[in-house]
Amino acid sequence: MVEKIKLLPENIANQIAAGEVILRPSSIVKELIENSIDSGATNISLIIKNSGKTLVKVIDNGSGIAHDQIELAFERHSTSKIRVANDLFKIKTNGFRGEALSSIASISYVEAVSRKKNDKLAKSIIIKGNNVQKNEFRVAPVGTSISVKNLFYNVPARRNFLKSDSVELKHIIDEFSRLAIVNCNINFSFHKDDNELFDLKKSNLRKRISSIFGNKLLDELVPVQEETPLVKIGGFIIKPSGARKSRGQQFFFVNNRFIRSSFLNHAVNSSFQGLLSDKFHPGYFITLDIDPAKIDVNIHPTKNEVKFEDEQSIYAILRSTLKHSLGIFQVSPSLDFERDSSMDIPYYLKDKTPSSPKISIDSSFNPFKDNSSDSVIAVNTKNNFHQIELESDNDQQELYFSETDFNPKQIKVFQLFNKYLVTALQSGLIIINQNRAHQRVLYEFFLGLLSNKKSSGQKLLFPIKIKLSKMDQINFYENKAIYESIGFEFHEIKSKTIKVLSIPEILSNDKIEDLLNDLFLNNKDYDFNGFSSGDIISKRLARSMAIPNGKILNIEEQQELLASLFACKENQVSPFNLPILINFGSSDLDKQIS
Ligand code: ADP
Ligand code: MG
Repeated sequence: MVEKIKLLPENIANQIAAGEVILRPSSIVKELIENSIDSGATNISLIIKNSGKTLVKVIDNGSGIAHDQIELAFERHSTSKIRVANDLFKIKTNGFRGEALSSIASISYVEAVSRKKNDKLAKSIIIKGNNVQKNEFRVAPVGTSISVKNLFYNVPARRNFLKSDSVELKHIIDEFSRLAIVNCNINFSFHKDDNELFDLKKSNLRKRISSIFGNKLLDELVPVQEETPLVKIGGFIIKPSGARKSRGQQFFFVNNRFIRSSFLNHAVNSSFQGLLSDKFHPGYFITLDIDPAKIDVNIHPTKNEVKFEDEQSIYAILRSTLKHSLGIFQVSPSLDFERDSSMDIPYYLKDKTPSSPKISIDSSFNPFKDNSSDSVIAVNTKNNFHQIELESDNDQQELYFSETDFNPKQIKVFQLFNKYLVTALQSGLIIINQNRAHQRVLYEFFLGLLSNKKSSGQKLLFPIKIKLSKMDQINFYENKAIYESIGFEFHEIKSKTIKVLSIPEILSNDKIEDLLNDLFLNNKDYDFNGFSSGDIISKRLARSMAIPNGKILNIEEQQELLASLFACKENQVSPFNLPILINFGSSDLDKQIS
């Protein structure tokens, strides 16, 4: 039987809309701050509790909402920003869909207090489940304050989907900084559970960027400037020497709004071509102003993507503008790849071997012994005794090393092109990427330290001071316990500066400062989302410390590296999921040359 078609009740329609607009606490932060910006505010304060799960509150000193409109503002498709359809093409404000407040009110408790300049009193309303519960006049400053409590109280599935406090906090900091960067003419403050995270005074773009990402950036920002009839380009790129291994410092703002764009990103990458080595990503804070009629900002409900009418021209203009900036500031000649900290880390394995579990093993066993009757390699792991058949002409054979105490001196190996280690096992010819192999060894080593919980570090003769930006402080304090459990010891001078007293023994003392900077500064890394902090830190340390490709290794170093790799729990893929080695079995070779 066909049911009668009915209109969805208003609160259900709102909840559906909320599903598109409000994904997590950071979406509320974005919508409320955008409304405050649109209201012409010069001061905006953000307050959150429990990473926004219990409270997100935004207070502004903007235009305020008229007494008779405040309830209307929470109704669906209510907006003061569009009157006729044609206006859609002229939008300069952040919001215009009139969906945010109604969506928010459908999945949380909301309290709004607002007063216009010419009113003596503010009007305050409380909304629960889209119903106005309380409506009164009260004394309050000019402007608007909106508190959003108990997010998703009525949608448990959505509430359960929220991530840990630290992940949700990162999303909030992201939204906040995107809005704060480009609205540098506005004072912003941000309090989390009564602690001040940011207090950003009105300034210019350059200072705003460095007050968020650290003063170190001040010297690294190169201005970008171009004006054509199609687009006006401004902002800054980070000199190649300041490029990072993460993509945490890549921002495009189109008409004052943060957007993601792979094609614009491609244009930037191509203008940096030849200036950055593989692992590094250009940093940029680029603003594009363009006639709103020539873009479509509405292709994505959360409005992070735009479609340009004339993509090709914008690509070309952006690329040549950046090349020009890079040229004018003569950043290319001062490029010094040798300054890459990871290049200078001495190969620690020379003196120290990570402590792998000691296991008893038949010392006369030699995996490389040329003995064709030996079709079984015995591998003795901690508790179990495995016998792994390596049938040399089975295509499906699995290449398998385990926690074997190979005597490194028995390993036959040579280095090819200063980056591959070539060896032979019974399974065939194995070619190993030295950088990825070492990343794997270090990664498992640090994970091991973490699971032991306690490892003593080595005291530094001269403690190293590191100045942290706001962003770095947040990351640092979040991970401090993990750093300590792998052997770091800190003395906090002020919350902004830390003194490193001890470092994990494995870290070399040489160039340690670069390594620590790499670890503690600007290390927002989004590819890492979803991993535990201990895992992320182990990966980051492994990546920074691993011997680079291109480094000549002597025979003992090659043997030690292979022995350590064979002792790893996993030896096929790097911590970043890239293949470490390839194996040519006899059938592979037969196909090629017999
Ligand atoms: P939109 O921003 O898309 O217009 P919202 O649901 O976010 O829709 O807001 C609805 C309306 O409420 C806005 O158009 C604006 O008139 C009013 N409003 C919301 N927040 C504020 C604020 N902080 N100050 C002044 N007016 C506001
Ligand atoms: Mg809005």
